[in-house]
Amino acid sequence: MKIIIVGGVAGGASCAARARRLSEEAEIILIDRGPYVSFANCGLPYYVGDVIHEEENLLVATPELFKNRFNIEVRLENEVANISRDKKTVEIKDLKTGRVYVEPYDALVLSPGASPIKPPLPGIESEGIFVLRTIPDSRKIKQWITEKKVKSAVIVGGGFIGLEMAENLSLFGIQLSIIEMQTQVLPPFDPEMASSLHSHLKSHGVSLCLGEAVTGFEKNQDSSITVMTKGGLKMKSDLVILSIGVRPEVKLAKECALEIGQRGGIRVNEHMQTSDAHIWAVGDAVESRDFITGEWITVPLAGPANRQGRVAADSIFGRTTHFRGIQGTAVCKVFELIAALTGANEKNLKRLNIPYQKVYLYPGHHAGYYPNAKPIDMKILFSPKDGRILGAQAVGEEGVEKRIDVIAALIQKNGTVYDLEEAELCYAPQFGAAKDPVNIAGMLAANALRNDAPLAHWDQIDFKNVFFLDVRSSEEYSAEHVENAVNIPLDKIRENISALPREKEIYVYCGVGQRGYYAVRALRCNGFNAFNLSGGMKSYKAFTNQGLPTVKKVMQ
Ligand code: FAD
Repeated sequence: MKIIIVGGVAGGASCAARARRLSEEAEIILIDRGPYVSFANCGLPYYVGDVIHEEENLLVATPELFKNRFNIEVRLENEVANISRDKKTVEIKDLKTGRVYVEPYDALVLSPGASPIKPPLPGIESEGIFVLRTIPDSRKIKQWITEKKVKSAVIVGGGFIGLEMAENLSLFGIQLSIIEMQTQVLPPFDPEMASSLHSHLKSHGVSLCLGEAVTGFEKNQDSSITVMTKGGLKMKSDLVILSIGVRPEVKLAKECALEIGQRGGIRVNEHMQTSDAHIWAVGDAVESRDFITGEWITVPLAGPANRQGRVAADSIFGRTTHFRGIQGTAVCKVFELIAALTGANEKNLKRLNIPYQKVYLYPGHHAGYYPNAKPIDMKILFSPKDGRILGAQAVGEEGVEKRIDVIAALIQKNGTVYDLEEAELCYAPQFGAAKDPVNIAGMLAANALRNDAPLAHWDQIDFKNVFFLDVRSSEEYSAEHVENAVNIPLDKIRENISALPREKEIYVYCGVGQRGYYAVRALRCNGFNAFNLSGGMKSYKAFTNQGLPTVKKVMQ
C-alpha cells in the first residue's frame, strides 16, 4: 500500500500519522509545496504580535520527526501539479530544482487547504497589503511593520482572523480600523451577541466601519495605502490586512474531474472518500454536512480537519469510522473578551425555516460570593418540539469556552435542554456555581418548554400592544425603563397583585431575567398569563444597539 498525501499541515499530517499507526507496512509520502510541515497556522496572529517570540515554536513537527518517529517521508517545496486517476499517479514538481517526476499511489489523500480570498479590486496587489495563511506571510507582515515603522493599519474583514490580528497589531501601538461588509463583526454570531464586542473593540481604540464594502486601494507616494469603500470612505494607513475569508483549494480536484459540491468544496462521503474510490479529501478543501441543519458547508477549522484526517486514514485501511459533520464550534479572543459558539445560529435557523426557541442569560462565570465573578452573555437555541439543543453562543471574560465546549459535546450526542439542566459539572467557588451557567441555561429553556415560565423576546413582541411590568427596584426604574412600563418591584408583587390586569398578557422584565423569572412564577401561580422577557434589560440593550426597528428607545 502506497499512500500519497497532498498537504502536510492539519488534515494531511494527521492523516499520515494515523495511517502509520494503522499499518507498519504502508509506504507513506507527505508532500507540501511550502517550506514547513505541520506548522501551527492558528498561532500566526500571535507570532505577528510577538506573543509567540520564536518562529520555531510554530513548528509542531519536522520532516526528521516524521521520518524517525513514524517512518513517513516528507517532501517539502514539492508541488503536486497533476493527478492521473486512470494511471493512479501524481505528477510532482520539485520547486527547488524544477524537476518534474511521477509518483504512483494506491491511495491518494488531498488536504490542500484553502486560499485567502483576494477579490480583483483595483490596487489589491499593492505593496503593503497582506494576507495571513503561512509562516512566510507572517514573516512579511512583521518585516513590513518594522521597516516601515507602521503607525496605522486597516483590517479588511472582521472575522476570527481579522479580530485576532487587531489585538496583536494593537500590541505595537498601531492605530487600527476594521472595515466589515456585514453590520457586525464575527458573522457566525447573531448580531445582538456581537454588540458587546463592538463596544469592547472601540474601548481599545479600534475604529469600526461596519456595513462598508471595500472597493479598491491606492498606493501613495509615502508608501502608505488609501483604502476606498462603497460608502465613499477613504482611509489612509501604513498597512492593510485582508482577512475576508478563504476559498477551498480545489484546483487539483477540479482538473481531474472529482466531484465539486455546491459550496465550491470537494464533495466527499462520510468516510472522506471523494467521487473516486482511491482518492480521499479532508480539511478546508472539502464540503461537510452541517451537524444541525444537514446543509453542505465549508467551515475552515483545525479541529474538523484533524478529525477528518484520521477518518480518511481509517477508511483507507477498511475501517468504517465516519465523520459526523461540523458544528462550527469556535472560539476567539478579542482583547479581554472571549467569544465562543457551537451549532446553528438564529440567522441560519430562520433562513432554513427550522423551528427554534431561544433563551438569553447573563450568569457569572463563577459563584457571585467569590471575588471577581465576570458575567457571561449566553444565548441558547433549541427545538420547541423536543428541546434538542441547536446552538449556543457566549461572550465574556472568563469561563466562556468551557461552557460552549460542554454544550458542544452534548450537541454531538443530540442532547436536549433537559440534559443541560441535569449536567453534573465541576464546582468550587473559583470555577463555577452549584448551578453552573450551563445548568441555568437548561433550566430556563426547560421551564419555557414546560410552560412553567414562558419566555418572550424583545425582537419578537409588538411594543405598542404589550403590557410591560418592570420588576426592578424603583431606583433602577427611574434611571431607565421601557416606555409605558409599570413598575412593581419584585418584593412588592404580592401586595400589589390586584393592580395587574387579568385579561392581558403581562410581559415582565428585570435586569437580566432572574427577578423576572421569580415574578412570572408568582404571577402564573396566581392565574396571570405572564411571560419573562428573556435576558431582561441587558438583552434589550443588545438589541437596541443593533437598531432593530421594533425596539423603542429607553426613556431616561
Ligand atoms: P492547511 O492547514 O492549510 O494545509 C494545506 C497545505 O497544503 C498547505 O501547507 C499548502 O502549502 C499545501 N498544498 C496545497 N496545495 C498543494 C499542492 N498542490 N501540492 C503540495 N502541497 C499543497 N482554526 C481553528 O480551529 N482555530 C484557530 O484558532 C484557527 N486560527 C487560524 C489562524 C490563521 C491565521 C489561519 C490561517 C487559520 C486558522 N485556523 C484556525 C484554520 C485552520 O488553520 C485550518 O482550518 C486548518 O489548518 C486546515 O487544515 P488543512 O489541512 O485543510 O489545510
